[in-house]
Amino acid sequence: MKDERELNAEILRRRMVDNQLIGRGISDPRVLEAFRTVPRHEFAGRASPEESYGDFPLAIGRGQTISQPYMVALMTEALELKGGEKVLEIGTGSGYQAAILSKLAREVWSVERIPELAASSHARLKELGYDNVEVVVGDGTRGWPEEAPYAGIVVTAGSPGVPPPLLDQLDEGGRLVIPVGSGYSQTLAVLEKKEGKIHRRERGGCVFVPLIGEYGWKK
Ligand code: SAM
Repeated sequence: MKDERELNAEILRRRMVDNQLIGRGISDPRVLEAFRTVPRHEFAGRASPEESYGDFPLAIGRGQTISQPYMVALMTEALELKGGEKVLEIGTGSGYQAAILSKLAREVWSVERIPELAASSHARLKELGYDNVEVVVGDGTRGWPEEAPYAGIVVTAGSPGVPPPLLDQLDEGGRLVIPVGSGYSQTLAVLEKKEGKIHRRERGGCVFVPLIGEYGWKK
């Protein structure tokens, strides 16, 4: 039987999905179901359940954040996953986005540059049973060539441009979702590889912590 805390979290999650996601146009039923299921409060450090499901990003330590639920949903929906894919996330942070992806794809690889964050998110994901997610430490601007190609790549930090290795590691028909712009504000770009050519769309403005690495910001 679920205890009171879990029931309360479930109510808060449903409210988050209705008001923040459906209310703003997120419509993929699989994506909405993933957000109804994944316990965001388990990834939110010391935040209360009410704060965990609020309409804002949350601090997770080391100057990093879990993005606002709507932004995680917008990026996830843009990948257009059907369930059989291998996907790559750059910027594991708390592991929340990786847990959402684990519900929507066959296999998730997630790269984090800060070893302490990678260790804690890896432990959390395993404890919660997200067994199709692997967290690895590295400079995600170089992608993760060992497991390429990927049907979807999502970058959860803001980059000055599109790192070429990520386009190389994208499979035919695959999508790369990445915030591109200055250190203060970015545009969410969706790049699709079709017959070897890259098609680019933009999905509005966003604000992310910097993507730091060889093909990102230099510190
Ligand atoms: N997706 C995360 C979640 O669900 O909690 C939030 C990610 S947070 C907004 C951005 C993360 O990107 C931080 O954890 C940061 O350390 C990481 N990061 C920045 N540059 C990176 C790089 N080159 N490779 C891998 N991770 C990087």
